[in-house]
Amino acid sequence: MLSDLFEHNRKWADERTNEDPDYFRRLSALQRPEYLWIGCSDSRVPANVITGLEPGEVFVHRNVANLVHRADLNLLSVLEFAVEALEVKHIIVCGHYGCGGVRAAMDGHRHGIIDHWLQPIRDAADESEKELGQLKSDDERHNRLCELSIEAQVSALARTPIIQQAWRRGKQLAIHGWVYGLNDGRLRDLNCHRTGCSCEVVSAEDAG
Ligand code: ZN
Repeated sequence: MLSDLFEHNRKWADERTNEDPDYFRRLSALQRPEYLWIGCSDSRVPANVITGLEPGEVFVHRNVANLVHRADLNLLSVLEFAVEALEVKHIIVCGHYGCGGVRAAMDGHRHGIIDHWLQPIRDAADESEKELGQLKSDDERHNRLCELSIEAQVSALARTPIIQQAWRRGKQLAIHGWVYGLNDGRLRDLNCHRTGCSCEVVSAEDAG
């Protein structure tokens, strides 16, 4: 029932105010989150709930299959605001095993506009065709592709002018790739993080 949502909201707001009379006044005056979360729209992966973060602690952008499209004005606007105005320290690209978007990208059926949206997942699959081909079951291939796609989005994010410029100016900013298990509720770090420092090391090596 929709009315339940208002009822829950009223109770929640009352509880917060009882615990801390200044709570909403403080939050309405300022948000200073340290994290930008780029996650899947899937209703089972809510950023605040699974990380235990409170309102005001994480800036959130979600889309189907947590993808970073270079011309996505929505994502780029969120990213620029998070980096330049909020000065977040960490950007977390979080996908999840069992992602319907990843499945839809690979099932060979026509779904409509979403097929264009999901193209980066097929690109990631093509790039790792050999590795994926060696896995025994569809589930293993699917889960590995969920991870590979997250890694590819971390990499795409690191190449955006917004991030490149922030690193060039010496901003402390790290991009992380995480995956969430719907089966066990656990987050895992894919260890594919990028920072301005490692970016400089790579370019120094390239230059050498
Ligand atoms: Zn998903």
